[in-house]
Amino acid sequence: YSYYDQNTVLYLNGEYLKAAEAKTDLYGQSLHYGYAVFEGIRAYKTIKGEVKIFKAQEHFDRFKRSCELIHMPYPFNNDELIAACYKVLELNKMEEAYIRPLAFCPPNMTLKAALETEILICAWDWAAYLGEKQLRVMTSSYQRPNPKAFAIESKTSGLYVNSILASQEAKEKGYDEALLLDINGYVAEGPGANVFFEKDGKIITPPTGNILPGITRATVIELCHELNIPLEEKLSTIEELRAADSAFFCGTAAELIGWESLDGQPFTKPWADSLGKYLQKAYKARVLEAEFKEVYKPAEVV
Ligand code: PMP
Repeated sequence: YSYYDQNTVLYLNGEYLKAAEAKTDLYGQSLHYGYAVFEGIRAYKTIKGEVKIFKAQEHFDRFKRSCELIHMPYPFNNDELIAACYKVLELNKMEEAYIRPLAFCPPNMTLKAALETEILICAWDWAAYLGEKQLRVMTSSYQRPNPKAFAIESKTSGLYVNSILASQEAKEKGYDEALLLDINGYVAEGPGANVFFEKDGKIITPPTGNILPGITRATVIELCHELNIPLEEKLSTIEELRAADSAFFCGTAAELIGWESLDGQPFTKPWADSLGKYLQKAYKARVLEAEFKEVYKPAEVV
């Protein structure tokens, strides 16, 4: 898969350049040590036919906070960066796209006062990351990083080696995706998505602290409140998750995607009847700025 071609335009430090011609410094510490921060944002064509970046402000607020958490200077104005995102979409004639801002540093190594930040914004057409089907998930042998060893709420590039290892392991073992536990053995999140599950008519998700505070997670929580779905943010063991009626991942790229099974054990409730499926429809309506009037009807118990 190629993310760009000869015509693709990106934004680099205030300029719009051909992706094939843009350059970076191979001595940069971001490349060597993963000292960079990124975001993943989606643009949708709404039902009115407008191209809208979903929760752009929230994503750039997190981008700024991610940089601050690792002491990377943030000399940017978020309104200008959002305008640059729209410009990149327009220049590339993209409508439904994935947008990738990346803040990185030139080679001045670890002296905080000497740090400078560079900014890249690129975009590509990207279909749903985890696909439409339900996922066969495995509990990873990799834990999420120790929050005391790292600013875990920062979307720092280097941290994603953990995600890559977990995804690779799951795929090598014939699963679709990994679920990672936190340092204390509680359910944490996926390599690039937050986790929710349904138990006895209630939706449960891990609290913030040892996870990335997902913007999709926040949207799902908002939807639960709006739709009167009982929701609890609490730490859960893997046994509690195994005993769930249904479960799903959510994230900007993944959107909202149901689980078929965990470690080979299927969930009891068919995805089509689950609260997750109902929330998936509500989420789709939210990003497309459509009205959502459907009422949740639990399947008849026979
Ligand atoms: N957790 C991790 C580790 C992630 O990388 C992501 C994707 N950014 C998420 C959760 C979901 O976050 P969001 O909904 O903001 O995309």
